[in-house]
Amino acid sequence: MSLLTSSDGSNFMASADQRAPDEYSPRGDRADIASRGPWTDAPRHARLRLQFRWLVAVALANLSVLAIDQQNLGDGFSTAVSLRLFVVTPLVLIGLGINVWSRNRHLQSAASAAATISLVVITSLLGQWAQEPIASRYMMAAQFAIFAAAVFASLPWRATQIMTAVAIAAYALIVTGALQFPRTLVNLDLVGFSVLIAILALFIRKQEELRMNEILAMRRIDAARTAELHKANARLSQLSSTDALTGVFNRRYLDRFTENWSTSLVPSLGSGVLMIDVDHFKLFNDLGGHAEGDRCLQRVAAAIRSALRSPDDIVVRYGGEEFVVILPAADRSEALAVAERLRVAVSDLQIPHPGLGTGAVVTVSIGTCVATPGENITDTIERADKLMYAAKKGGRNRVSA
Ligand code: GH3
Ligand code: MG
Ligand code: MG
Repeated sequence: MSLLTSSDGSNFMASADQRAPDEYSPRGDRADIASRGPWTDAPRHARLRLQFRWLVAVALANLSVLAIDQQNLGDGFSTAVSLRLFVVTPLVLIGLGINVWSRNRHLQSAASAAATISLVVITSLLGQWAQEPIASRYMMAAQFAIFAAAVFASLPWRATQIMTAVAIAAYALIVTGALQFPRTLVNLDLVGFSVLIAILALFIRKQEELRMNEILAMRRIDAARTAELHKANARLSQLSSTDALTGVFNRRYLDRFTENWSTSLVPSLGSGVLMIDVDHFKLFNDLGGHAEGDRCLQRVAAAIRSALRSPDDIVVRYGGEEFVVILPAADRSEALAVAERLRVAVSDLQIPHPGLGTGAVVTVSIGTCVATPGENITDTIERADKLMYAAKKGGRNRVSA
């Protein structure tokens, strides 16, 4: 006999404070995983190969069962040939085809269940033509089909229940003689036995379902923990590269950035580098107090960030009251324009400077230059630093390029 077809056919350049952590979404909910058959995820050629084996198995099974039919069914043999070749075999082939070409789970279930039920019905029917003890063998073969389909077919639980119930009902109808009138109600022992077999098969299948649910629950917990770990790691790496007072990148980040400099930028485009230093900040601290100095640094950092071109521009707290800004792919005039915008943004904060007389506000001096192709970023920063001192010498609150 042909058995049921198995179903189913399963930059470093990025600023840590601006880029979302790598979110891990726990996938694979129950419906998703449970609905997978043994080869849902397999490439189509692998599935085709598997289906081809099934085809060969179906053909061989047909040949052997037809030989058995011929020996045992007498007049019923021609009916057996018709039913097997024109009902069971096409249904099995359709089931195999649907499992390869369709991903519709309901369709796959229906095709697999239809093939099984037809097999059970036809095997039981053909047994009516046979003489004992062969007739009982046909009944047993039908029972085995019900059992094997419930246990081994990778149908969803609900589809398995329906298929088994329908197969049992059909089996019972046939072997109790319900297709004959008046009913003879013979073979009740066979029906009782097959009901037991079906219950056993469903029980085994249910146990498998429970195990599957446990595995899925563990996988979900696992996925949730991994997601938490990813978030914690992302947070940690953000913290380790961020300056606690101002929220911009810290020196550690710049060091790592420097290591990756040659690979992270397109050298031919160059990068603008700005060295920014708060003017007379020692005096500010001495007269305004350290806490007020901290607040001032926070506001200056925020003003710098607000005046950047894009989130790809990088702000680093370089030292106490010194900031470095890196402007990827910026030429001299663009770097100058950004520097001037930053300078104005800080003085526009209008933070009174307690040491410089009435009306004096906090300002910055900026040195700006562009990294030449192949230049080490540390050398570029040094050049910007020298230019910044030139701005100081020139009277402060100015940009020097
Ligand atoms: P110049 O205009 O030449 O740059 O003068 P300046 O006073 O700003 O330069 P100097 O390097 O002499 O002083 C820097 C001061 O910055 C010294 C220190 O009190 C202050 N400073 C450094 N780090 C911090 C900080 O984290 N918080 C506060 N409140 N002050 C800091
Ligand atoms: Mg300084
Ligand atoms: Mg200073």
